Amino acid sequence: MSTAAPDFSFAWDWVLAAARQAAEAGEVPIGAVLFQGTTLIARDRNRVEALQDPTAHAELLCISSACSHLQSRYLTDGLLMVSVEPCPMCAYAISLARIPRVTAALPEPKTGFSSRYGLSFGFDFSISEAAPQAELQQLMQRFFQRLRC
Ligand SMILES: [Zn+2]
Repeated sequence: MSTAAPDFSFAWDWVLAAARQAAEAGEVPIGAVLFQGTTLIARDRNRVEALQDPTAHAELLCISSACSHLQSRYLTDGLLMVSVEPCPMCAYAISLARIPRVTAALPEPKTGFSSRYGLSFGFDFSISEAAPQAELQQLMQRFFQRLRC
């Protein structure tokens, strides 16, 4: 019997798929999945354009959906995996939900709570090298290139 920590790296495929769906829908291509323990409890993507809601970030939608599903405002056994480092709004929401661990595929120097603002909210944050960083980076670059045209 193994006592090693569970490996969630398989779930990066789902994060990537969600980010691609966002790109296809004309949204900033960010996807997220949320586990409670080892159970996938939410998967979502940015929906700012679709909902015309500036707060409809992938992370917030995952938290909202997971809390509603579990009928709990705390996700103390949670792991959030997101394609890009969360913004300060999402990072604060993560701390309100008491999610202990967050891992991102890419740092976000323009809006990231840590890279840009140097904030920390008490949860463990890491950049995952197991993530499909090149693909996700390419999605982001293509999206912002299109905006500039
Ligand atoms: Zn955000």
